[in-house]
Amino acid sequence: MTNEVLVPAVLEKGSARKKTNNHTWIIYQCPFCGFSHNHGGGPATADPVKYLGGRVSHCLYDSQEYILTWDGTTLFDPKKYRTPTKLDCRKLEKKHKALEK
Ligand SMILES: [Zn+2]
Repeated sequence: MTNEVLVPAVLEKGSARKKTNNHTWIIYQCPFCGFSHNHGGGPATADPVKYLGGRVSHCLYDSQEYILTWDGTTLFDPKKYRTPTKLDCRKLEKKHKALEK
């Protein structure tokens, strides 16, 4: 319990890219490797907050444990993404890039 690393996550409700309504927790910058990672946030009918907490990082090498935290930032209304279109995907990429800056 000496090395707890808190990492901010953004909730993605549904994914146009992955064509799913499931929740995903997105880490934009991993404290260990600097890359973005996704963690499952459960099905659309479940409370994604239950999926926060200690997770094993998805680093390419040397995965470690961190703790997902959430400030309430949510990316999408799942209703809009039941039938994703190419335009939805482009908007999604734009949002992701804006958040990375
Ligand atoms: Zn990593």
